[in-house]
Amino acid sequence: MIPAKGYAAKNAQDPLDFFHFERRELGPKDVLIDIEYCGICHSDIHQARNEWGNSMYPMVPGHEIVGKVKAIGSEVTKFKVGDLAGVGCFVDSCGQCSSCKEDLEQYCEVHVASSYNGLEMDKTTPTYGGYSDQIVTTEKFVLKIPSNLDLARVAPLLCAGITTYSPLKEFGLKKGDKIAVLGLGGLGHMAVKIANAIGAEVTVLSTSPSKEQDARNLGAHHFQNTKNAGEMEKLMGHFDYIIDTVSAPHDYNFYINLLKRDGTMILVGAPPEPSTVAGFSLILQRRRLVGSLVGGIAQTQEMLDFCGEHNIVSDIELIPIQEVNAAYERILKSDVKYRFVIDMKSLKEA
Ligand code: NAP
Ligand code: ZN
Repeated sequence: MIPAKGYAAKNAQDPLDFFHFERRELGPKDVLIDIEYCGICHSDIHQARNEWGNSMYPMVPGHEIVGKVKAIGSEVTKFKVGDLAGVGCFVDSCGQCSSCKEDLEQYCEVHVASSYNGLEMDKTTPTYGGYSDQIVTTEKFVLKIPSNLDLARVAPLLCAGITTYSPLKEFGLKKGDKIAVLGLGGLGHMAVKIANAIGAEVTVLSTSPSKEQDARNLGAHHFQNTKNAGEMEKLMGHFDYIIDTVSAPHDYNFYINLLKRDGTMILVGAPPEPSTVAGFSLILQRRRLVGSLVGGIAQTQEMLDFCGEHNIVSDIELIPIQEVNAAYERILKSDVKYRFVIDMKSLKEA
């Protein structure tokens, strides 16, 4: 086994702390990655604190992983030692079911090995994520990173980037469409950049009026404080799409009514508590309410290449791993600009 170190949640209450564990020996199809940066996703907080009710401890969070290949198995063909490499939200799937055959491994009908808080394909061995110094992953689930982009700022593309890119592509956002991005955090700011690059007219809907200038700098054409009821009223029936990235419970009906006839509201934010949806808010204008989970490996590579071409990276605050608990508290206050990324040097030198 390969000795590894990281930061782990030991239970739902206590702060994350230093943790020693082991990675598997390199198999013939495996790649060993020396992790340089890992983004902090709000899903890390939901899971570290067992808000979704499925947490396994100890848990090493982190699914926005980038670094350099340190070693390869004997049958690896996609990577060589020294290449840039990325790992996102899952590290294996059955490869045989209809979802896997359609490059939608995240919806595998047999078993998806999440990058952390999950089990390998043996359904016994726990997976540990990217708040760590290195990771062993089967090459099919390792992404190639465009070399023109700043590596630390690429990390959030592995979750926030693909989670927003995938549904915008699948549900057909195109040039000139009016889209609202609800919530300007990690996912939201990537949605703004990607929708802008597609050529859509982008409005940020936010509870934080202080984010207006940032929203415009990120590529939004309009900004609306959602707490201003009078201004919100004027946006009823206005949008072709809404991408909802909000992490806490909120009233879906209120936002659905901002859609035009045949408009689509895409849920990617995953509040722990359920919300009620009034059928009539959909029925009367033939609107659609859909959800989407990250994206498959092929589409994640497509997104990374798209970001390489359009020079799209995340706006980040780079922190040492010792500040991860403080970063969690700031994220919970919506005080994030716009993704925290851990510099793994701080762990290796600790
Ligand atoms: P984040 O950085 O914390 O951003 C969430 C934003 O939502 C906040 O910055 C805030 O924006 C807004 N917000 C927070 N609390 C709110 C409230 N009570 N009412 C209204 N707005 C509120 O989180 P993230 O990392 O982008 O993740 C967002 C959600 O997506 C999480 O639930 C996460 O688990 C989920 N997620 C889903 C997938 C998927 O595959 N579907 C993948 C990754 C993450 P403003 O300040 O602009 O209001
Ligand atoms: Zn995530």
